[in-house]
Amino acid sequence: MQLTFVEGLPVASVTFNHVYKRYGSTIVVKDLNISIKDKEFLVFVGPSGCGKSTSLRMLAGLEEISDGEILIGDRVVNNVAPKDRDVAMVFQSYALYPHMTVYDNMAFGLKLRKTPKQIIDERVQEAAKNLGIAHLLERRPRQLSGGQRQRVAVGRAIVREPSVFLMDEPLSNLDAKLRVEARSFISKLHQRLETTFIYVTHDQVEAMTMGTRICVLSAGELQQIDSPFNLYHNPRNVFVAGFIGSPSMNFFDAIVREVDSHLMVDTGVFQLQIPTERSAIYRSHVGKPVILGIRPEDIHDMDYEPPGIVPSKIEANVDVIEQMGNEMIIYLEEGEKNFIARTDPRTRARIGGRMGLTINMDNMHLFDKTTELSLAYEDKQQKSHAPV
Ligand code: ADP
Repeated sequence: MQLTFVEGLPVASVTFNHVYKRYGSTIVVKDLNISIKDKEFLVFVGPSGCGKSTSLRMLAGLEEISDGEILIGDRVVNNVAPKDRDVAMVFQSYALYPHMTVYDNMAFGLKLRKTPKQIIDERVQEAAKNLGIAHLLERRPRQLSGGQRQRVAVGRAIVREPSVFLMDEPLSNLDAKLRVEARSFISKLHQRLETTFIYVTHDQVEAMTMGTRICVLSAGELQQIDSPFNLYHNPRNVFVAGFIGSPSMNFFDAIVREVDSHLMVDTGVFQLQIPTERSAIYRSHVGKPVILGIRPEDIHDMDYEPPGIVPSKIEANVDVIEQMGNEMIIYLEEGEKNFIARTDPRTRARIGGRMGLTINMDNMHLFDKTTELSLAYEDKQQKSHAPV
């Protein structure tokens, strides 16, 4: 195995250094700079076509790098053959060999590398045990469920003992329930193997639940790389704010105003007071257009307002109600602005009726209207007290 040693520890860090991918004049990955730490679980997330797979495939050696460098440890791998990069990839389509048993599917890559039989056997048995498929080794893929096939595909990668695991939407062929199970299984696997994992998904829930850090891409460009906590609480721009969280953050065009020495954010329909302790950050934007962002979970039914918030009261018309059991999703409308609230399930709202709401202004976000960057990003990053 190719490993770099620092103070006796194997290091499988990965670095993207000004990496570009072009197809003719089309740029699909633009100036990607990422430092992935050894043993990290990094997730690439973003809408379809944003360049996630291409980035992963450049790292695996399956796509040429148009510009820049990719390093594994301290070795530039741009011109290293895929099989010599010490990475193993799990794809969306498992592509198991149908005529081979589970054992042979898992052993195949090692056989090609002329690994001694006894080592192959040890590794396949060990991986199968770890994956909970030891009792399936003699079966063929068609005799397995989707979830079991997915584990065999992961097993085939594990036995190679790579320093970096790459996974490209490995769960998208599973149904919703199996996906949730497989998510926690892959997280546990990461903890057990203590290897660097790089995982591609378009599903923000998958990204948030699995990644130690998440790299959000849009149109080939890195938007933000951060912990799940920080991405949710301190999105760098409107794109990240809207992409992370479901239902999505509500956005309102607004203007910051100073009224009786208080700062207000004025949407034309609502005037909401900015918490005094945060006013200093926004003072330079008085009179300027901004985008106000409020997550649905920060809009409460006035009758079930939680403690410890900075409340601002509004009213709106109720358009649609979705009773989820644990909460209610309420579609609201006021002065041609549409927005969504996630409220207490005991909420007594009626479709077509008026509803009193409390917004928690402590969790509101303001973005510059032109650049779409968060006005509080730097300040919050410095004060971040994310749980580790
Ligand atoms: P994602 O994984 O985020 O869905 P991809 O990395 O697969 O996106 O693709 C990024 C962009 O590159 C897409 O717009 C896709 O159409 C384009 N692309 C991928 N392969 C080629 C190719 N061989 N020629 C031209 N464009 C391509």
